[in-house]
Amino acid sequence: MLPINKCVKIAIKNCKEFDKKSISKILIDLRYKTALACNRAITYLYTFALENMEYKKQTGLSIDEKEHFGKSYSAWVENRMNEIMETCNSANVAQTRQFVVNRFKDDKKKGLFKGEISLSNFKKNIPIIIHNDSYKILKSDKGFHIECGLFNLKYQKEHDIKRVTFEIDKMGNNEKSTLNKIIKGIYKQGSAQIIQDKKGKWYFIISFGFEVEKKELNMNRILGIDLGITKVATMQIWDNDKELWDRLSWKECMIDGDELIHYRQKIEARKKQMQIASKAVGNGRTGHGITTRMKPLEKMNDKVSKFRETFNHKVSKYIVDMAVKYNCGVIQMEDLSGFTEQQSESLLRNWSYYDLQNKVKYKAEEKGIIVNLINPYMTSKRCSQCGCINENNRDCKNNQEKFKCVVCRYEENADINAAKNIGLPNIEEIIKESLKVKKIN
Ligand SMILES: [Zn+2]
Repeated sequence: MLPINKCVKIAIKNCKEFDKKSISKILIDLRYKTALACNRAITYLYTFALENMEYKKQTGLSIDEKEHFGKSYSAWVENRMNEIMETCNSANVAQTRQFVVNRFKDDKKKGLFKGEISLSNFKKNIPIIIHNDSYKILKSDKGFHIECGLFNLKYQKEHDIKRVTFEIDKMGNNEKSTLNKIIKGIYKQGSAQIIQDKKGKWYFIISFGFEVEKKELNMNRILGIDLGITKVATMQIWDNDKELWDRLSWKECMIDGDELIHYRQKIEARKKQMQIASKAVGNGRTGHGITTRMKPLEKMNDKVSKFRETFNHKVSKYIVDMAVKYNCGVIQMEDLSGFTEQQSESLLRNWSYYDLQNKVKYKAEEKGIIVNLINPYMTSKRCSQCGCINENNRDCKNNQEKFKCVVCRYEENADINAAKNIGLPNIEEIIKESLKVKKIN
């Protein structure tokens, strides 16, 4: 069995016990105190670690926490946090302490004591952290809501309030299904966070865990994927025991790019139209300054990212299902991490593939599939049959889709040939070696 941990983000609409303004004020206050307490706590942890190091240097021993503090040092820190977060549910404070301790461990790993980074510091937009026992997801005819314990006993008595009930805003089907599974206990409920976006809207981020059955896939079978534009993905399977590629039907091994291309054209055209329109309107629309003119563009970007989400979800699912169906324990594809969103935003191109790559990785890992990202250099110009690398293997001017080897005369669709190369074990080294030999010759 393979343990998986995930999160779901859901928007809060209303709160039963308070009006919008009051609950917002309460949350902002909690958040402010959380930030204060976390900053204090991480400074304590840092100072103590330094003192401990010094003590160790002198005595060869660690400081006896029980003797000095009457308890473990982190329990002592939690008490200090409780003093600052004076109205807070103490389970949530404990969870917040865990959050700080983890952050401090991360800082140490990243080189805090080698002077490579400075100590983390928590801003006022820090999430409010909720212990998994402090909230409950409930479902009624009116929809989902979350009962959440935010306050400690003293505050509850003084203000005659127990739990706070948040109503959930509209959700997608994926989110609904996740919440249902948490309610039914199929997913194990983890801790949660309450955050606020820039527009002031509040969200619950709920973590949950489950286990998937790990099907034993064959690690000697590699699914190679070539990403492209006219064909979004072309797949070939290399069997390392048989030293052969599987025979796959054309239809099954290729994911057509028509839908993506049409959408891209539509969006680029609309962007142009909008630019023209905004110029034509000119100063007439500047009532609210630049923000008024930005809104349609923002809306469109929102649509684009929704399209990308759905499209890439579909494609990545297809790819990973294909790997499972054909018993491939390994997926190999080109490394696209070098492309940032900004670099190629206008093309609406590479970033979309980078996201696709991440989704493939994410889904593959759930099935126990290893994903190798490789440098695609020359994979489109290498003949998958005889290994010859030659510029003339591709006739880029006249026929993009065709691959014809100048040495062995092997003919194949260019994407299929590239996918065959990408799926080979150690393909990067194979190409490096043959380029070396070529130079010597
Ligand atoms: Zn050849």
